[in-house]
Amino acid sequence: MNLVELEKIEEALRSDKITFAEAGEKIYGSTTKPWQTDHWKKKRNALIKDCCEQCDSTKPPMVLQHMWQPPSYRNRVRNEYALFLENEKLNNSFPNVRDEEVQIYLEQFTDTKESCPACGVRSISKRKTMKPTYRCANCYHEFDEPKMVPYHPKLGVAPSFNVLKRGMANRRLQDYIWDTYGDEIRKRAILQGIDDYKRYMSMEDTKTFCKRCAYLWDMKRKKVCEVCKDTLIPIEMHACYKCQENGHPSVL
Ligand SMILES: [Zn+2]
Ligand SMILES: [Zn+2]
Ligand SMILES: [Zn+2]
Repeated sequence: MNLVELEKIEEALRSDKITFAEAGEKIYGSTTKPWQTDHWKKKRNALIKDCCEQCDSTKPPMVLQHMWQPPSYRNRVRNEYALFLENEKLNNSFPNVRDEEVQIYLEQFTDTKESCPACGVRSISKRKTMKPTYRCANCYHEFDEPKMVPYHPKLGVAPSFNVLKRGMANRRLQDYIWDTYGDEIRKRAILQGIDDYKRYMSMEDTKTFCKRCAYLWDMKRKKVCEVCKDTLIPIEMHACYKCQENGHPSVL
């Protein structure tokens, strides 16, 4: 896929001539990788220098290192969803869950199990001779009478009424957001993906690295100190300890 094709898809999606699903299929289903396109090769050749911007080495071959990676589609969807959720919480009332609905759910928990009377967890142990008989593995409370809690073989211990009520309301809100804005969320995620892709293709976030620096960066998350160009440091840092002693900051 080249930029012209991509912009055609972008335009069609923006004006709702195609759906997010069709756009996604065209973009993510494309078998031509960015670096296989002519645009990419030309751009790369124009930008690449003959000296490593990291360590000043001039030993070929040089590679164009991307300092920025576009987020995944999944992450973009998640971010967009979070925005809609935030907006919904601000502008509309939280979905209402009636007490009876919570009650009906809780009625499934027909068994009972022993639990810690202090913290409610089920991980308590019965001791043969020591008194008190029980000890909680979670809060270390010791007791003779365990508290019996409602239990369901598949669902486990019943949640408390209020926790459950809040959970059900949250769930209802999530469903509402996906039902109402799901297509819009995915459309936005794809459009952002296209923007990110263009930025990636523009190579504005690249530097020329020698093979060694590229390997250290990608595989070891290390680079040479930006001051002495010698000592290896984590990529988030600016100067090594020795250079820090000479007054250089550890990070910029
Ligand atoms: Zn280098
Ligand atoms: Zn406990
Ligand atoms: Zn240094």
